[in-house]
Order: sequence, then structure tokens, then C-alpha cells
Amino acid sequence: MNASAHIEAVYTEICRRNPGEGEFHQAAAEVLDSLKPALDRHPEYTGTGILERLCEPERQLIFRVPWVDDHGAVRVNRGFRVEFNSALGPYKGGLRFHPSVNLGIVKFLGFEQIFKNALTGMAIGGGKGGADFDPKGCSDGEVMRFCQSFMTELHRHLGEHTDVPAGDIGVGAREIGYLFGQYKRITNRYESGVLTGKPVGWGGSHVRTEATGYGAVYFAEAMLATRGAGFEGRRVVVSGSGNVAVYAAEKVHALGGRVIACSDSSGYLVDENGIDLDLLKDIKEVRRARISAYAEAKPTARFSARGTVYDVPCDIALPCATQNELGGEDAVALVKNGVRAVAEGANMPCTPEAVAVFREAGVLFGPGKAANAGGVATSALEMQQNAARDTWSFEATETRLAAVMRDVHRQCRDTAEAYGGNSEDYVLGANVAGFLKVAQAMTAQGVI
Ligand code: NDP
Repeated sequence: MNASAHIEAVYTEICRRNPGEGEFHQAAAEVLDSLKPALDRHPEYTGTGILERLCEPERQLIFRVPWVDDHGAVRVNRGFRVEFNSALGPYKGGLRFHPSVNLGIVKFLGFEQIFKNALTGMAIGGGKGGADFDPKGCSDGEVMRFCQSFMTELHRHLGEHTDVPAGDIGVGAREIGYLFGQYKRITNRYESGVLTGKPVGWGGSHVRTEATGYGAVYFAEAMLATRGAGFEGRRVVVSGSGNVAVYAAEKVHALGGRVIACSDSSGYLVDENGIDLDLLKDIKEVRRARISAYAEAKPTARFSARGTVYDVPCDIALPCATQNELGGEDAVALVKNGVRAVAEGANMPCTPEAVAVFREAGVLFGPGKAANAGGVATSALEMQQNAARDTWSFEATETRLAAVMRDVHRQCRDTAEAYGGNSEDYVLGANVAGFLKVAQAMTAQGVI
């Protein structure tokens, strides 16, 4: 069977065996569409079921998470952990707590994670998990009881050499703390390396909080540098106002750019003076309030509950909120307003239609599995520090992060050039470079 027919057959089978999992189909199609040149050059991967095995998780866990709310009512959520691929190391990927979480979303995230983790050059496999639990509006006590119940089931599948979760949407330092505490209590082991994203002070790494956002900006900076440009004096739009968005904005400001708009699920905010990050952090990280509180506190800002943040003219866009938030029409608006570069801080925030618009217009486009790899790379640095019972300084850790992002960027360009002849095709480069590393390891480890 030739490469195209093989890819088509694998995709058809994915859709047949995983009905209703639209995000997983989308993520698989995005990778498979890039792989023809790799399979043409490596026909050995067609006959050994590499694609078929890559697209089927090694293990999928779904479990009940019962907990008691502050009014004494019993609540039941659904927990997930998809252990997708361990060819390169223990399963590694975050936990997402959001009402939209379902198996298809966890599988798309876990699938992306395989290639992203391979690109970091660290010894980590791919996995993802979460629950359809909404921490918004819950008290600290409710969040703690939920996390304890979640970990009561999940702990038996984890271990520093087996599966190492971290944070994602709705899971930050608070949740990681409660999850770690319950793991320790059940196992009677202080196993620092079993979870990453811990606070600095009891096993966390400097720069982990900032890593995904900073890393996405480093990646965008590297893309811009290939065209002799940079962030200095540029107008930047960031979507979301969570962990990735806030620290992407912080690094943009440090590099001389100006973030003039950001958003949350209730609307978006424009502040032409540049977003005041101290105020934003206070609203989102301390008060856990809505973004409209910013406009109430700052007369220079305006909040809009209608339209999208991508209507705001900018030079650089950093989608940092959630999957499929930037559609074809948003991309057309961005291009019309002169956007030069888009780097995905979130996972799969741009729809396939949007990516096609950027490609057609010659906009530099950094896909999430490359551009947001800084988070998981720094998680792997946290695991290294935990294994050595060591703590590195902020500066030393950020130097390592910056080096990883430069290397991810270089791999994307070199691989895109070698397999497609266009070094600016970062989608092709990221997918093929990640795939080849995993395929080589899977081949060496036999049919398992
Ligand atoms: P957070 O929960 O900290 O923040 C998510 C932000 O996105 C919130 O501001 C949220 O608003 C906003 N948001 C969610 N849905 C929408 C929407 N439909 N429209 C506009 N805004 C929306 O999550 P993270 O910052 O950690 O994660 C963001 C993205 O980055 C996700 O795709 C995640 O998978 C990805 N990522 C995260 C990494 C990490 O290290 N944290 C690593 C790599 C990728 P609201 O509060 O109103 O819901």
C-alpha cells in the first residue's frame, strides 16, 4: 500500500472506531496529513503498524469521582486519564478540570502531547487527563474534596517512572497541591516526581508557572527573527487570561512589545496603554474574578462581551485560551488587519480553516505542539530536579527553557526543509520531527 492510501485507511479507521470524538479526529488528521513525505522516505513504518499503534492509546481510564459539596449534597463527576504512548518515557501531560471535558477532548490532547514531548528532546511519553468538573464558583474546600476523590482512584495508575500528570485548564498550583497531598497520604511516599507544577518550596521548579507563556513568546521571537523582525514596538493580542496568557503577555512586555488585548470566556478587554499585568494577575490569580473587573478598575480600558479579541488590529496574535477558539473568519480579520505571526500558546486553538488562511497569506504560523512545548519541557526539568533532590535558580532554569525552545524551532525548520522544501512550514516540521523520534523508538522496542 502506498503512503497516501495507508494514511487514508488509518484515518478512516480512527473515525469508525472513535465515533463522536471530533477533536480527536481533527488532531489526528492534522498530524496524518503531514506524514506522507516521512512515510515515502521510511517505508518500513508502513508495514509495521506504527501509525495504527500511534493512534490507539496504550491505556484509557474512565472513573467516577464522587464528592460532597458545601451544602452536604453528593456530586458525581467523570474522571479520565489517557496513557497514550510511552515509547520515549513515562506518560506525561496535564489534567484539565472543565465542564466540557470528555474522552474525545482528552484523547486529542494526549495525542498532541506525544509529538510535543518528543520535540522537547526530553525522555517523556504522551498522556493527558482531567474531569468534567468546574472549579469556578467552588469553595477551596470543595476543590480540595474533589481533588482528593479524583486522586483516590488515579493514584494506582501513577508513579514517577509510570505516569506524571501536571496542570492544564482549571488545574493550577492549588489543585496540584491537593492532588499531591492525597497521593502522599494514600501511598505513604513523598514521591516528588509524580506530579509537576508543584509550588517552589516543596519540589516545584522555578519558571514552571511562566514556562508555557514564555516559551510561546520565545518560539514566536525565533520565527520573527528569520524575517529580520522582533517584538519591539509591536501590537500583540493574547486570547485567554489564564496561566499561559498572563505569562505570554509578561514576556512580550519584557521584549518591548505591547499586549493591547486579552480575553476570558465572558468577553474581551482592550487597553491601548498595554495590559497592566499586576492588575490582571490580581483579578485572575488572587480574586479569581471575571476580566470585566479590569475595565471597572481602569478607565483607559474597555470590555466587550460581544465580538472576539481577534477583531482588534495587531501585528502578532498569541491564542492562549482553548481549542478551536480562532476560526476562519477570525483569521481573515487578522490577516486583513496586517497580522505577521501567530503562535499557538493553547492546544489546537486555530481551526483547520484558520490555519489554511494563514498559510495562504504567508503569515508565520507556529503550531501548539511546537510553540507551547515550553511548559512540558520545564515539567521535565522539574522531574530532573526532583530526581536529583536539587533546586535550580530561576535564571538557570529559564536559560534551559530558552535553549529548548530555540532547539524546537530549529528542528521544525530543518525537518520542514528536508521533507517539504519550505522551512517556514512549521506544521509539517513539527509533525514529522516528532513522529520520526517516536517511530524510531517504537520500532526498536518491538510490537507492543
Ligand atoms: P487556564 O485555566 O489558566 O486559563 C484558560 C483561559 O482561557 C481562561 O482565561 C479562560 O477563561 C479562557 N477561555 C477558556 N475558554 C475560552 C473561550 N471559549 N473563549 C475565550 N477564553 C476562553 O488554562 P491554561 O492557561 O493553563 O491553558 C490554556 C491553554 O493552553 C489550553 O489549551 C491548554 O491545554 C494549553 N496549554 C497549557 C499548558 C500549561 O502549562 N498550563 C501547557 C501547554 C498547553 P474563563 O476563566 O472565563 O474560563
